[in-house]
Amino acid sequence: MHVKMLGCGDAYDAQKTNSSLLISEGDFKLLIDCGPTVPQALFAYGMKADDISCIYISHCHPDHCLGLTTLLNYMKSFKRSKPLTICRQASQHQALYRLMEFAYWPEKDLGFDLYWQDSEELTEFGPWRAETTPSNHSVPNRSLQLKSDSEVLFYSGDGLLSPKGEELAAQADLAFIECEYMTAANGHGSWADVKGLQRKAGSRWVLYHIDDASRPAVAEAIKEYPEFSLGEDGREFELTGVKA
Ligand SMILES: [Zn+2]
Ligand SMILES: [Zn+2]
Repeated sequence: MHVKMLGCGDAYDAQKTNSSLLISEGDFKLLIDCGPTVPQALFAYGMKADDISCIYISHCHPDHCLGLTTLLNYMKSFKRSKPLTICRQASQHQALYRLMEFAYWPEKDLGFDLYWQDSEELTEFGPWRAETTPSNHSVPNRSLQLKSDSEVLFYSGDGLLSPKGEELAAQADLAFIECEYMTAANGHGSWADVKGLQRKAGSRWVLYHIDDASRPAVAEAIKEYPEFSLGEDGREFELTGVKA
């Protein structure tokens, strides 16, 4: 499993790309979240119209989905031929459907097949087993765990982890955790909440979606914890577990 952090920024970051991961295994490429600044990062890495196999949208806040219009429009313009699957919460379909329609307006369709999948029902994603669970956020968000035979990845999306989310994160070899603030805040991750979470021995925990004003303090706080690091735009991770 290869992971590229396209962006680590929150909704209004002046410099950083909106939070997003590109996860690959062989030819299968999963894009997690697609805020308005994410397509530009994908273009900068030379992405082709057929490269992405699936898109997972954790929730419908603009910084996690508004880039969908540009990305789908790019796929249409550069004549994508493969079908595409977008995984999202059933209750948020209407909002995303509008973004898709805008991608081909005033024409009639995208020119390739698009499938919608309910993240509530997700059990597998390409080569991985998958599980999702809600977090506590102002718009319903679902955290995602991906599991291969030997590796487990967790992506929180936005919000405070639910007990189930904490359980899924505790199994992870590589966990991406939203950490907007230093001190506990309703509806967002914070260092105060994250530092006490159960963690698998040898796991790596990457904090992302950090408020600009809180970032220096979070950077300072994690120094005592070697398993924690800060997300950075363009940072890459290789997960090469030994088969159990
Ligand atoms: Zn966000
Ligand atoms: Zn959000």
